Amino acid sequence: MSTEFQQLYSQLPAIDRLLRDPAVEPNVAKHGQTLISELLRQMQAQAREFIKTQQQLPQWCQDWPKALQERLDQQQRSALQPVFNLSGTVLHTNLGRALLAQPAIDAVVRSMTNAVTLEYDLDGAGRGHRDRAVADLLCQLTGAEDACIVNNNAAAVLLMLAAVAPGQQVVVSRGELVEIGGAFRIPDVMRQAGCQLVEVGTTNRTHLKDYRAAINEQTGLLMKVHTSNYCIQGFTAAVDESELAVLGSELNIPTATDLGSGSLIDMTQYGLPAEPMPQRLIAAGVDLVTFSGDKLLGGPQAGIIVGKKALIARLQQHPLKRALRVGKITLAALEATLRLYQQPELLAEQLPTLRLLTRPQQEMQASAERLLNQLAPQFVGLFELRSEPCWSQIGSGSLPVDRLPSYALTFAPLDGRGSTLETLAQQWRRLPQPVIGRINDGKLWLDLRCLEQEGALVEALIA
Ligand SMILES: *Cc1c(COP(=O)(O)O)cnc(C)c1O
Repeated sequence: MSTEFQQLYSQLPAIDRLLRDPAVEPNVAKHGQTLISELLRQMQAQAREFIKTQQQLPQWCQDWPKALQERLDQQQRSALQPVFNLSGTVLHTNLGRALLAQPAIDAVVRSMTNAVTLEYDLDGAGRGHRDRAVADLLCQLTGAEDACIVNNNAAAVLLMLAAVAPGQQVVVSRGELVEIGGAFRIPDVMRQAGCQLVEVGTTNRTHLKDYRAAINEQTGLLMKVHTSNYCIQGFTAAVDESELAVLGSELNIPTATDLGSGSLIDMTQYGLPAEPMPQRLIAAGVDLVTFSGDKLLGGPQAGIIVGKKALIARLQQHPLKRALRVGKITLAALEATLRLYQQPELLAEQLPTLRLLTRPQQEMQASAERLLNQLAPQFVGLFELRSEPCWSQIGSGSLPVDRLPSYALTFAPLDGRGSTLETLAQQWRRLPQPVIGRINDGKLWLDLRCLEQEGALVEALIA
């Protein structure tokens, strides 16, 4: 080893000495000697590596306590960092979908800090299983005979197929063989559940006679899938659930619908796009209906199956149910969320998802104008700020063509460069509470529909 290298290595401070440095000591007191010594050892190794390849000390070696602090800050940052969702998508899967209502949050805290009657029978009435209370609520709200709760809607579909049609044929229209984000594809789920997919009809048109012709002694289920994330327009035909249910009961074959999102209330009363309702399918005679807890329902991640008692009993008894069941935290949040639906007149105020979806455009416009006044001075000479109308999306598999009128604060770089815009977006993604917007048409758009704390955003962007 050359003496030159040795001279550089010798400039690296000893760990013992660093641990006693007054600027490091508070962190030792806070995080403990084990963690801090380990971090300092890692930093030393990095510095040695740098010297070996670059023949000089890394810049950060000028201030070890500061470099340590930066690493600590980064390490201690949660993997679930709160962000400002100004993407324009209300139920953003990558940002965690629905925000919980306060009663659901309170119920979660209670269930986490106390022992609870998850499967414990206080009155000797024989509760049966952990889904009982939530299932009773779901029956009241949907008119179904019984219900089953699992980890998410993908799990609901898997369990339903495995329990209702094991080793049997499941008939699905070619127009409904959908792929939902995150590798959920109907043909794959079918295979995993041990069912044989029988495709009927064509991409654009499927008739009742197509289902009828496909039925034989091996048929175990007639299934419909809500084509939530795309639509086929033009010369189209699909079989209505009520017709399929009649065929199913005529031939004694169960029918099911995977709704994806679904909504327990009529969305059109709020001027929102119509979304199929589980209770209408149950009333139409469909035997099993599956939907998500954290899409339009506005609750925790969960998969909900409602339907006929005998079929739900098969789901509850299937070994997969044990693997896919939810914990007390989910059940507590779901129960409290469903109770809000018993007071529908308060729902638009209490349920964050519905509150955000029903915000009038003037509210976002007023917010955009206030923010424009406060923020424009900060960006003089760099960006032109404007308040502009835009369109939000519901997200999570609601039709991408259904848009909600909203308002955005837009940032156009005065140098007209896309790279300037990218740099701004990147800076915002690195803030303590990152700001997530959307780049479009040479501007950075902050859709204000999901912004309920204006002051916090101003603080974040000014700092
Ligand atoms: C979203 C969706 C799923 C998956 O639901 P998760 O709750 O994300 O597991 C399945 N089917 C349809 C039709 C969907 O829209």
